[in-house]
Amino acid sequence: MQNLMKKETYPYAFDPSACASCEGRCCTGESGYIYVSKNEIENIAELLGMQANDFAKEYLYKKGYKYSIKEMKFNGSYECVFYNRETNGCGIYDARPTQCRTFPFWEYYKTRVEELKLECPGIIDV
Ligand code: SF4
Ligand code: SF4
Repeated sequence: MQNLMKKETYPYAFDPSACASCEGRCCTGESGYIYVSKNEIENIAELLGMQANDFAKEYLYKKGYKYSIKEMKFNGSYECVFYNRETNGCGIYDARPTQCRTFPFWEYYKTRVEELKLECPGIIDV
């Protein structure tokens, strides 16, 4: 096991090599919110060559005062519209939201490591 990622104050490490065979469990599965900020909306729209307003209409929905990326249902799983099953990758990887960039090091999971392990096979106790 090489190149483990660790973050100070987190009780686990992450092995990125697990992503190759995991089939994007953090981008699929149970429905969840994939929040995007105003800057992130602009960056993703630019990456896709779209106007931010058009991008928002097609790919986002409002949740309270925030925006989330839409999901689509596939075999009972809710998948981010940008998850690509064929490549097992993110279609907007270079502009993916902070929420995706920082997974699995979310404050929420600091005290919920067992829950995190159920979602992400790359989690290792330290
Ligand atoms: S759930 Fe974990 S191992 Fe799977 S793709 Fe996401 S970060 Fe990688
Ligand atoms: S934006 Fe990319 S990394 Fe984030 S949930 Fe969607 S497919 Fe996954």
